[in-house]
Parts: sequence; C-alpha cells; structure tokens
Amino acid sequence: MIGLMPVKLDEAISEKKALLKALYEVFEDEVKKYPFVCRPGCADCCTVNVIATGIETILVLDSLGEGEKGKLYSELSPLKAKERLRPKVTPNEMASFYMAGKEPPLDEGFVFEPCPFLDEKNLCRLYEVRPLACRTFFSLKLCREAGEAVVPPEFFSLTMVFMQVLEEIDIAGVYGNFIDLLLFYLEKEKAKPEDLVIPETILANREAPDFAIPPQHEEYVRGVLARLYKHPVGDKTFKELLDAVKARIKPKEALSFLGEALS
Ligand code: SF4
Repeated sequence: MIGLMPVKLDEAISEKKALLKALYEVFEDEVKKYPFVCRPGCADCCTVNVIATGIETILVLDSLGEGEKGKLYSELSPLKAKERLRPKVTPNEMASFYMAGKEPPLDEGFVFEPCPFLDEKNLCRLYEVRPLACRTFFSLKLCREAGEAVVPPEFFSLTMVFMQVLEEIDIAGVYGNFIDLLLFYLEKEKAKPEDLVIPETILANREAPDFAIPPQHEEYVRGVLARLYKHPVGDKTFKELLDAVKARIKPKEALSFLGEALS
C-alpha cells in the first residue's frame, strides 16, 4: 500500500484536465506529421497492459453516465486479480534512474489479451478520451507484416517525454495499469474517504527530474516541448498553468522519494 505517501487525488482537477486536453492536442498534431499506417480496426496493440494516470482515468469516467459506470464496474471487476502489466516505476522515476546511470526495474507481467474496451469491430469504445499511452501506439509498417511495430526512434523519444509531462500534470496523483485505475476510481466514488485504500499496484506520480532525451533527438523533442509549453490553456500558457498547479499542490514530500530510491 502507498497509503502513507502524500497522494492528493482531488486537487486541481479542472486545471489538470485542461492541461491534459492540451497535451493530447499538441501530441496528436505531431502524430499527423508521420506516415503511420495504423487504421481503425487494426488493434493488435490494444491489450490489457495499457498504463495511465489518475487524471486520465477521471477524464474517461467523466465521459460516462452513472449507468455506464455501473456497467463498466461489473465488466472490469472479474479482471481485478488477473495478471497484466503493472508498472514498477513511473516515467519520471524511470528518467531519474537513467540520469543516475542506473537501470530501472524491468516491467513484468505483459499479457497479450485484448483490451476490454475494444468493440465487436475492434474499435475503441473510449476513443475520444483514451489515455496518452494508447495515443502513442503507432507503426510505419503493418505490425502483422513486420512482426512488430516499426516506430521512428525520435517519435519514441517524444512519447517518453510526453509521458513524463503527463505525470507532471497529474502531480500528487497516481499512475498504474488503466484497468486497475478504473476499478480504483469507481470504488473511490462509493467509498468513505477514511476507508479508501490505494492498492500497492498503483504508484504515486512524481515531478520530472529532467527529461531523458537521447542527444540526437534533443533538438526535435525540445522543439515540440516548446510548442506544448506555449500552447494556450484558458488565459495562460500550458507552462504557466502547469507551474501554477505544481506550486499549488507543493508535492515536496512526495519528491523526497527520489533520494531514497536512488540511494
Ligand atoms: S483504451 Fe482503447 S485505444 Fe486504449 S488499448 Fe483499449 S481499446 Fe485500445
């Protein structure tokens, strides 16, 4: 359990959602520049291993009515104890390991079962509000023909950095397997705050130590990042609002974890 960690699940939700939508917008504009071959109905990458942040989970649940949420809970409950990828570190923790010249713990538990949100035509039922991780699944060649996704290396670097920024947006929030997060938030809606227990499979989000970018991709990735930071969100830029959210939440105790993890 991470109950003693300073996770603050209900802070700055509307600002975080606005930042998240801006992040999705800038990322998707960038995706359009690549000649990816992925098409609707091609969903080999849609598995139970998708990871997400708490704020993305909230955005998904906001898009559902009460009846749909009840149905979703019934659908997902049988999957609660099943094996799937449950990350051991968040993207910002991973970057901290790399920056310290250390290898992060390897992710385990990949299970190649289809995502429960695929419909009978292999289309995503949550497409408009799907998490960033889902928005990063692309290939320059059909995976079935190439045997695996063919991802331009600079695009991969960009996705890693956007995952880091995503975690920053949801500072003092949580990170984990998307199915686990949905179940947790659906239970949270019904639980009394004092009864709420965060499962040990769900991690606390961290601030970015810096961005882990290979030198050959620095110029490209930082260029896109600069566009994201200048992107308007209400009457502020993305960066101004992100800094305001971080200052408001002041997750300093949460950040002390990094020293411990790397010592
Ligand atoms: S949520 Fe949607 S896009 Fe993401 S893995 Fe599931 S079906 Fe695919």
